[in-house]
Amino acid sequence: MSNKLNAFEIAQRQLDKAAAILNLDPAVHALLREPLRELHVSIPVKMDDGSVKVFQGFRVQYNDARGPAKGGIRFHPEETVDTVKALAAWMTWKTAVVDIPLGGGKGGIICNPKEMSLGEQERLCRAYIDRVGRFIAPEIDVPAPDVYTNGQHMSWMMDEYSKLAGHYSPGIITGKPIALGGSAGRGDATARGGVYVTRQAAKYLKKDLKGASVAIQGFGNAGSFAATLFESILGCKVVAASDTKGGVYNPDGMDAKALSEYKLSNKTVVGFPGAKAITNEELLELDVDILVPAALEGVLTKDNADKVKASIVCELANGPTTPEADEILHKNGVFVLPDFLANAGGVTVSYFEWVQNNYGYYWEEDEVHEKLDTKISKAFWDVVAMREKYNVDNRTAAYLVSVNRVGEAMKWRGWV
Ligand code: GLU
Repeated sequence: MSNKLNAFEIAQRQLDKAAAILNLDPAVHALLREPLRELHVSIPVKMDDGSVKVFQGFRVQYNDARGPAKGGIRFHPEETVDTVKALAAWMTWKTAVVDIPLGGGKGGIICNPKEMSLGEQERLCRAYIDRVGRFIAPEIDVPAPDVYTNGQHMSWMMDEYSKLAGHYSPGIITGKPIALGGSAGRGDATARGGVYVTRQAAKYLKKDLKGASVAIQGFGNAGSFAATLFESILGCKVVAASDTKGGVYNPDGMDAKALSEYKLSNKTVVGFPGAKAITNEELLELDVDILVPAALEGVLTKDNADKVKASIVCELANGPTTPEADEILHKNGVFVLPDFLANAGGVTVSYFEWVQNNYGYYWEEDEVHEKLDTKISKAFWDVVAMREKYNVDNRTAAYLVSVNRVGEAMKWRGWV
């Protein structure tokens, strides 16, 4: 996106590194380096002023060897197909690392929802589904929310798909409101998964995280829930948070609930009482125990990775760290919980939502939390086993787990 490095090239480089370590079959490697399918659509939308604007959209099905493609739809003014391809690749590794029977996909529309009325957004959602409707299905490709999309967008998309299909089809999309077949526990699932993984990391590192300081870059859905859950589950204190407008820092800690409420009513964390103003860049370099990049890709680079003082980085965003930064962090002994492991809680509960939709029976929230903890904690230890076996960083270890699983499925299916 905004960074100079192409996200898809980064995703391919990460895969190449894992392939070399695994001595991967060249055909498996070649198939995993590119998406299986990608669809580009032009989407005409009637705007409120009567004009028609044509938006560009994408849906990429990266790999579906292990099950239907799965992954969110992003609305972003700087969206590119390469970013969507990278994110679809990361979804493939994400569903594999938590061992759920789904593949990886992603969608995106170049647009700025912040400058569109609700009516315009609804027409855009419906028109997008009209264009991609024959490409997706509950047993083919199941979208979900991502950057700048939410339960309302998912509801309109589900409704439009149901009209095309001619019957109620809740399993076409996840991240829906509870009233429309959403799952209990989906709202905070991405952040919760990150907190559960961090809890396992603390066990592995023999660290006590009670009172540990946390800085959160990006205070959207994942970031704000992370603040509350790092505080309530692990007893950490949130000392810094930021969003697109800037950041706030209070070394004594800020009340996570008050901060989330402040963000909700002021649309930014900037100006939170008792905290001093900092920039997004300064936040990344704070002397904290846990750093949580929870915004966009490409924020930890070769220019600032050396300045990261946190001992644990919990990547709730997709792709926040460039390969150069990765090497620096590893060399400096920073324990990175890589994105497709740390933020896999969202898709794991999406999977639970899809299962519940498919059999029409719904679980209590406690059950969802417990199942999520089991899945993602096991994934952490699977990654640790690879880390120790091959003496590699966590991201590479996570790739080794996932690439093996996807490669095995492709072999059994006879693709390679
Ligand atoms: N957009 C989220 C992610 O990147 C969730 C995807 C999903 O639930 O399918 O993991």
